Amino acid sequence: MDKSFTLLRELAFRLAQRHDALVIHDVVVVGAGIAGLSLARALRRGGRTPLVLDRASGVGGRCATRRVEGQPVDHGLAVLHGRSTRFLDELVGAPDAAAIADWPRARAGTGVPCQPQSFDLQDARFAPAAGVSSFARHLALGLDVRLESRVESLTLAELPGSHSARVWEVGLASGERLTSKIVALTMPAPSVLALLRRVDPPDPALAALLPLLELIRVLPCLTVIARYPEGTPLPRWEASYPRESPVIHTILHDSSKRAGTPRLVLVIQARPRFSQAHLNGSPESWTRGLIEEGAAPHGEWVRAPDLVQSHRWRDARVAAGSELACPLVAGFDGGAVLGIAGDGLHAAGGVEGAYLSGIALAARLMDSSPAR
Ligand SMILES: Cc1cc2nc3c(=O)[nH]c(=O)nc-3n(C[C@H](O)[C@H](O)[C@H](O)COP(=O)(O)OP(=O)(O)OC[C@H]3O[C@@H](n4cnc5c(N)ncnc54)[C@H](O)[C@@H]3O)c2cc1C
Repeated sequence: MDKSFTLLRELAFRLAQRHDALVIHDVVVVGAGIAGLSLARALRRGGRTPLVLDRASGVGGRCATRRVEGQPVDHGLAVLHGRSTRFLDELVGAPDAAAIADWPRARAGTGVPCQPQSFDLQDARFAPAAGVSSFARHLALGLDVRLESRVESLTLAELPGSHSARVWEVGLASGERLTSKIVALTMPAPSVLALLRRVDPPDPALAALLPLLELIRVLPCLTVIARYPEGTPLPRWEASYPRESPVIHTILHDSSKRAGTPRLVLVIQARPRFSQAHLNGSPESWTRGLIEEGAAPHGEWVRAPDLVQSHRWRDARVAAGSELACPLVAGFDGGAVLGIAGDGLHAAGGVEGAYLSGIALAARLMDSSPAR
């Protein structure tokens, strides 16, 4: 396989020189979440020139921080945590990551956190005061990232001027089409599946990947951000896991991560079953219910926020145990290569799994398609 990639590469570069209009990218990475960024960073360190595309207006994906009247609020992943040396070294090297170690330091309730192992002694937890997305911005430094670039189609196309070489045509929502020998997909598994089912023309190597991706089960999470009036007494807990509630899985005292004198902000995350049942309802139909439910274990004050926002994560977390053990790589006749990484493609799962799957995919892509 190495030989055909090298030939394809040579041909592509010669053609690109001849046809000004045809730019053939080295690797196109779809998704600037933690998996896509760790992948691109590792490729870059290996001497490659990845182009990262994301449909959003910022990097980080589900490692998401929103500014609520200037105050950062983590409304997806609440804390960076992991246990592998590789991931922890990266976290410690990121600016601000040590701001609050071991957050949440005080817990209420006896429910089970979505990643119970994050509270094991081997796991380290970091809550950046600037919000978890600062870690994504750190990973993105020096990378070629194009935001607001939604990928809508993938096509296996013959390289102009060649009889057998094939490349990927990546179709963007803007109508632009990019060409690359290697495409790496790092969106949540259901989005990867949706894109691959539309690949034109259908290909047996691709069809073989689909049943594997279908094994990854991704759960939704409805989320409410509630900010409280100045003077509201601060709760003594930083995370609450109300075991009895059929509605709420976790309440995070988000402002306890912030520097200075932040306003009191809670982030309420619904249970997967409740989220699934209300996923297509309007936010008004579930937002108030989540706030009311939060008052049951913590008191009347929870009912009286002065600002409320909600977010619907259709694909929030991978159901524990449904992750594949490693990223996927497929080679196609004619030399095109497809890689797939993300939190569903590493046994560690969650944010650490996303990071490690990107690193693992970079190694495999560089092995299968050596630099020129
Ligand atoms: C509410 C919530 C709580 C969580 N709690 C935890 C936790 O406690 N511990 C833990 O480890 N993990 C937790 N997670 C999960 C964790 O955030 C994810 O596992 C991790 O961030 C996934 O990273 P990723 O790069 O694989 O995917 P993503 O972060 O989803 O990145 C994929 C990127 O692809 C982009 N994209 C999608 N489709 C397209 C397209 N067609 N074209 C271009 N770009 C596209 C998206 O905009 C996104 O930026 C939580 C997530 C949520 C939502």
